[in-house]
Amino acid sequence: MRLIDADALKEKFQECINSITVSDPFITGVKNGYESAEYWINEVPTVEERKHGHWEGGGAYYCSNCNAYAATDVFGGGLDITEQHYCYNCGAIMDGKVGDDK
Ligand SMILES: [Zn+2]
Repeated sequence: MRLIDADALKEKFQECINSITVSDPFITGVKNGYESAEYWINEVPTVEERKHGHWEGGGAYYCSNCNAYAATDVFGGGLDITEQHYCYNCGAIMDGKVGDDK
């Protein structure tokens, strides 16, 4: 399975729909196809929402979603906490935005 950005795909379909200005029956059918595809993107289930979180603590930082320690604590150092944009354990984006429920 390949996860894609459904919102970006919908924008592409909308661009195609907007670019069709000819009222030929075949072209109208193509336009209807794009509109149908855009509709179905909204109807299929979302596989997984990307989690959002942030690093908590100080010195020993840990993920607000899964409590896994950041790589900064491995072997007494390593990556700076500001360079760790994702939790290696749960995949959360460490931006503290929507979905960061802690
Ligand atoms: Zn995590």
